[in-house]
Amino acid sequence: MDNSATGGDDNETIPGGLTYFQNHAVHEFGHSVGETVYNKDGGGTLPKGDTFAQTYGGWAQAGTAVDYARSMSWTTAMDTTNYTLIDGGKNLTVAGTVIRDFLTSIAEKGLSNATDPAALVDAADPAKYAATADLMTALGAHGVLSGTTLFKTVDRWGSAMPDEGYILEHGVAAVAKITFYSTRWGDRWVQYDKQAHDNCKSSLGWYSLSSPMEMFAEAFTANYSGGTVPVARGANSWTTYFSDLEKSPSVATAAGAAPGVLATPYGAPAAGSGETEPAVGLI
Ligand SMILES: [Zn+2]
Repeated sequence: MDNSATGGDDNETIPGGLTYFQNHAVHEFGHSVGETVYNKDGGGTLPKGDTFAQTYGGWAQAGTAVDYARSMSWTTAMDTTNYTLIDGGKNLTVAGTVIRDFLTSIAEKGLSNATDPAALVDAADPAKYAATADLMTALGAHGVLSGTTLFKTVDRWGSAMPDEGYILEHGVAAVAKITFYSTRWGDRWVQYDKQAHDNCKSSLGWYSLSSPMEMFAEAFTANYSGGTVPVARGANSWTTYFSDLEKSPSVATAAGAAPGVLATPYGAPAAGSGETEPAVGLI
């Protein structure tokens, strides 16, 4: 469709581009398409959109908290460096691994569920910090630690982690695979290719990097709302995929066939409401 601000002469023109609601509607429709197996023109079937996205991104349910730290540029040299925290009148020295594991626990469980290091946090010991928030303040006051990508990322999103932990706006290391904790794909550490990060971040945005399903829905939205799909990675081309999809003669397996993607049916009328349920289900 033509969604340019200057419009066009077809009836599908949306001056000014898609509204929030229109964008949202296309995205959700993209999820339905992504869950569906389409027959391929000329025989066979196309991979599901979600599966295509998984392949394109090199997505895997793999990785660890340490891999996440490495993705956030926390090096092995930092693991073995001793850091001294003096904020708040303290004088506490610990190995980098202690700081690393504290910060990755926030990425995994959220700020309010962080695993406080016993060497640094103890409400009953005046030599230590009283709570997680005090330790974060101390790290933010540290000349070196405050500038690390790992600290900055966790400090920015900690209260919204792990849900929003896919937003790595402070940069990522030059690693082959980026690791983060995903609540949208298995509620676990997951990985995708750094190259997919580079391709998708600019054209689709961070949300496309929250799970394979969201990557497909965002690519679908971009493709059908005048946006730009990410460049191909080898044989994996979004442009070709959508072209094949449009040539599909029929559906092989509908999205609704998979339990869990069906809408929740209406419940029975509330007791005492006086209403009675229709004898035949609505179509
Ligand atoms: Zn979505």
